[in-house]
Amino acid sequence: MEDRPAPHSAPSPNGQKILVVGAGIGGLSAAFRLQRAGYSVTVLESAAHVGGRMWTEEIDGYRIDTGAALLPDSYHEMRRLIRDAGLTEDVQPSGDVYGFLRDGTVHRFGKHLPLRLITTGLLSPGSKLRLLRLAADARRLKDRIGFRDLPLVPEADESCTGCADRRLNQELFDYLIEPLSTNYYFAPPEELSMTHVYLAATAALGTGYFNSPKGMSFLPRGLAEQLDVRHHSTVHSVEEEEDGVVVHYTDHLGDECRESAAGCVIAVPGPEVSGIWPGIPAALRSYLARLRYSTCLHVSFGLSERPSEPSTWIFVPRREFPGGLGLCLDHNRAPGRAPHGKGLLTLYWPTHLSEALHDEPDADVTARALRDLERLGLFPGLRHRIEMTRVSRCRPCVPLTHPGSIAELKEAVHSLDRTSRITPAGDYFSFGSTNAALASGEAAAMRLAVALSAADRTRR
Ligand SMILES: Cc1cc2nc3c(=O)[nH]c(=O)nc-3n(C[C@H](O)[C@H](O)[C@H](O)COP(=O)(O)OP(=O)(O)OC[C@H]3O[C@@H](n4cnc5c(N)ncnc54)[C@H](O)[C@@H]3O)c2cc1C
Repeated sequence: MEDRPAPHSAPSPNGQKILVVGAGIGGLSAAFRLQRAGYSVTVLESAAHVGGRMWTEEIDGYRIDTGAALLPDSYHEMRRLIRDAGLTEDVQPSGDVYGFLRDGTVHRFGKHLPLRLITTGLLSPGSKLRLLRLAADARRLKDRIGFRDLPLVPEADESCTGCADRRLNQELFDYLIEPLSTNYYFAPPEELSMTHVYLAATAALGTGYFNSPKGMSFLPRGLAEQLDVRHHSTVHSVEEEEDGVVVHYTDHLGDECRESAAGCVIAVPGPEVSGIWPGIPAALRSYLARLRYSTCLHVSFGLSERPSEPSTWIFVPRREFPGGLGLCLDHNRAPGRAPHGKGLLTLYWPTHLSEALHDEPDADVTARALRDLERLGLFPGLRHRIEMTRVSRCRPCVPLTHPGSIAELKEAVHSLDRTSRITPAGDYFSFGSTNAALASGEAAAMRLAVALSAADRTRR
């Protein structure tokens, strides 16, 4: 089980030096907590900017979130970190209306979910009754399912299709389970564990949302401003020695560097961890080798006029459109995303289509997105209002917990050596999300602080 972070009560660090690999939200939260606990921390980041999959680009006055987009109020760890980093004034409540498309109609939901589920035309009365079963299951699991503790819910680790056959019906599968899988994980439910659906349902449906007018990058930027971050620094290996760790990396000038430290947090995406950590515990290596990530391509259109649709997000089930889609009305989703009176609309494709289009030129990808939007027919005349386009390619996107992977994750977590000077952080410890990455960064900071303090005591 992941350690509960209590950074304020971390052991005395004696000014020891720590290196953190990766300046995504996982690495930055680990670095922030360790620095606050008194360590001397440097973050090595291969890219030109921090944030990784939590980033925002500005084009012609539009703010495009190139990775993560939604921050539900259930992200308690993130709320706490925002407060501790003095960034509270950067955030405000944001759009919380989402819609599901059926037969050309958008059925909208918001914070008052139970009430809307009774009155909605999205589902038949029979399905609504069956949905009570899913709600009861989710309620039962709610206290044990979270951003740190996926291994606590082994009974949820069955396939979505198996659960739908056993507990639900085809309509609930088609209009709830499938669009939730496709829109939150960009993957079909046939490939996912029900754990994903329960977590999405309990963490992100029927809740409020928050965001920043500065874009999703407000948090990585805000943390990085308080930390020592070296950009264009690509780490090749992290190895433990008797009294510390040695990190090999290429710096911003292209020079090969060797740096020693008391400890290291490795906070790179799951598929890259084994490549730079030769001493990775075998169970974590095998969990990561089996874990797949989705791919997501999304295309943002800056619009000279806002569409009248009030939803922040529209789930388009594959019953309604081949392969299924996600549509985000960014100007409703969060403040500051489009210039005054203008609109920003983003189309997200699921993983199979994203893979197929990944290497196509931007112009072809944009043309395909526009064709799909016109075929959908929700925004007449859209073509004539476009004044900006941006294609975002995300590979890896989010980890996909397959049925059976909770047992593997449990073994991987237990295999972590609590005395090691090297410890991992990343979204692969839970429901792939910014908050899971952040929570795992904080847990890694705590593990490392405890290990270093124990090593210190032994030396003395
Ligand atoms: C399209 C998309 C939509 C999403 N939607 C949401 C959402 O709405 N809400 C939500 O909460 N989450 C969402 N997510 C998931 C969320 O963005 C990620 O789970 C989270 O940001 C991962 O953070 P991380 O720090 O673990 O990894 P990353 O953000 O990937 O950070 C890892 C960092 O390590 C660096 N790095 C890699 N290798 C090296 C190396 N060898 N040396 C040095 N540096 C290295 C990378 O450049 C990167 O900056 C979405 C993700 C995508 C892609």
